[in-house]
Order: sequence, then C-alpha cells, then structure tokens
Amino acid sequence: MDVDPTTWLARAGDGTEPGAPAVPPIVAASYFISQGVPDAASFHYARNSQPTWQPLEEALGGLEDASATVFASGQAATLALILALTEDRPRLLMPTDGYYNARQLARMLEPRGIEPAFIDLQDTGQVERVLAGGPAVLWVESPTNPLLRVFDLAELAGIARGHGAPMVVDNTAATAVLQRPLDLGAIACLCSLTKAASGHSDLILGAVTTRDRSLHDRLAQWRTVAGGIAGPFESWLALRGLRTLPLRIARQSETALRLAGWLARHPRVMTVHYPGLEGPARALAERQMRGGFGPLLSFELDGDAAAADAVVAASRIIRPATSFGGVGSTWERRGRWSSETVTESLIRVSAGIESPDDLIADLDRALATRR
Ligand code: PLP
Repeated sequence: MDVDPTTWLARAGDGTEPGAPAVPPIVAASYFISQGVPDAASFHYARNSQPTWQPLEEALGGLEDASATVFASGQAATLALILALTEDRPRLLMPTDGYYNARQLARMLEPRGIEPAFIDLQDTGQVERVLAGGPAVLWVESPTNPLLRVFDLAELAGIARGHGAPMVVDNTAATAVLQRPLDLGAIACLCSLTKAASGHSDLILGAVTTRDRSLHDRLAQWRTVAGGIAGPFESWLALRGLRTLPLRIARQSETALRLAGWLARHPRVMTVHYPGLEGPARALAERQMRGGFGPLLSFELDGDAAAADAVVAASRIIRPATSFGGVGSTWERRGRWSSETVTESLIRVSAGIESPDDLIADLDRALATRR
C-alpha cells in the first residue's frame, strides 16, 4: 500500500477495466467450470477459493503490506493459526487477560498435544523464562479485551525472536488502521472482522495477515481441508464495511477517549481502563498505535454484580449486548460470561459513532440508577 489507508480501503479490490462493476460482485457458487489438473490461478471448488474472497483479502492484505486469509470467524482463524504454528512447537504462551475464548480454545487443544501457558505479558522476565523452556509460540493481544492492557510489541517480538518463537498479535481491538504489529516483529496478525473492521454488527468473520509465504500457504491449506470458510455474502459485506473503517475508528476512538475521561471523574466509578487516559500505558500506546486508541474501554463500578446489571439495563442509547466495534454503542457486565475472569462489576463499553454528548447523557442517566 503506497497510499493512505483511507484511500486504499476506499478503492481496494475495485475493477478498473471498461465495464467493471462499481462494486466487486458476490459470487455465490459452490463450484466453477474446470477440468484437467487444477491450477492455483483459477477457481474450481468454493472451499478452496472463491472470487468474493479475493477483493476482501486484497484490501486486508494491502493494509499491512501482507497477504490475508479470511475465515468463517475470528475463532476459526485463531484455530487455524494455532494449528499451523504449533506443528513443531507445542507450547503456546498466552496472556492471562486477553479474549477468554482464545484461552478456552488453547485449553481444549491440550488433549491434542498443545501445552498452553497463561502468563502476564508485562512481566517480560517471566516471558523469557517460559520461552527458554522449549519451542513455543507467543500469542499476544494488545490492547486486550476487556482490560485494555497494552504490551510492548517490539520488545516482546525481540524476546520471542531470541528464542526462535513466532509471535502472533490479536489486533482485533485496534485493527490494522491503528496498529501494524507486523512492522513491529509479529509473524502474523489475527483480526476478528466481526468487530470494528466490518463495523456494522451484521456478520461473523475473521482474518489472518502475514508476510510469511509458507505460513500463508499452511493457513490456506488448513482452511481448505478443515473447511472453516467465509461465506460469499459475509465477505462482500465485510469489504463494504472495511471501506469506512478509518473514518469510523477515528471517530469511535475520539468518543471512547471522551467517555473514558468522563467516567474517570464519576463518583460511582472506581477504575477506568483505556490506553488513551493519562497513565503509564499511554506513552507505550502512543508509540505503537497511531490515530487513536480504539473503540473499546471498560470500567469498574463501585458496587456488586447486581448494581452493575442495573446500570447496564438503564441505558437508552447504549445497547446492552456483547461484541464491540460497531457503529452503535454497546455495553455489558463482562463477568456475566462464566469463563471470563474479570471482577464482577466490570462493565465493558464499545463506543459507536453516535453523538458523544448523547452518549455521555445516557451514561449519566444510567449511572444514576440504583437497584
Ligand atoms: N479476538 C478478540 C479480541 C475478540 O474479542 C473476539 C471475539 O469477541 C475474537 C478474537 C473472536 O472473534 P469471532 O467472534 O469473530 O470469532
């Protein structure tokens, strides 16, 4: 990509020849006319490759000067990436406080030979020690969901490199518009396209980007053979959403910063987690992110689970729901999920594109609610 991400995403994947449609079409076919020895350049069977994936993968890949592989969901992408990278390195280091289903998946793979280790990635001494114990993969998420912790990606990549361990970054909260972990030494980036990347809360998809040709080929092979493929309609919608990602995420980041600052001054709020707030994480986040800190923030309410549930139920604009990154703001008490490990009164907020003043009025009203 030799242009700004806004320019790139507005046009990526578009045809230029006379008669090309304004928008790459949806091709909903399970097979394509073909005979003889199949070649990689054309289409044969839609589990192997599909025309509607191409412009989406071109857009995602170009954003990071990499190649992209789209999957049926962020979790399908996570599974393929874990399987591809742990073929000869069974140990999988993951953060203690990232997306809980990544940890859950690693645990479910334990009987199949994967050895997960959950550690605080801010403790780089411990990262060194665990990596020194044998061939491993380092799985990083930054900022994390839902505690918004930020890890020094270049430092972790350097440590991983020293031990021959590939580093993966789950870049879902920031997206490649705000953060490019491949530039900082990651071998691959995972993004749940379900979130801000597509941005309209109307699909589930995931993608992996990498500059490593052999990893890219193995991911494509896992997708073809295991079958966790993206549907054509979802792929088409994802590209449509992606076109406005830079505009949406800039606005959402500005709003999230305002909400975080407002919440930090509220008497019922004990702690706010957001990398853009003044504090030790901000300098690091500024160094490795650009153009904002993302739509996601969380805070701890002074109260128990029932008090937090009452607050969440009282909003009129911010919808009570899981997921994040969409144009409409959402929030939830995160501890309602049984595998989540945060405190019972932690509320995670996703800032949408609504008027920040309206959102603050909504927060104000909801926080005035007592059970
Ligand atoms: N990574 C992060 C940080 C997430 O928050 C999620 C989903 O919430 C995923 C990955 C998985 O994505 P999906 O829901 O598209 O499978």
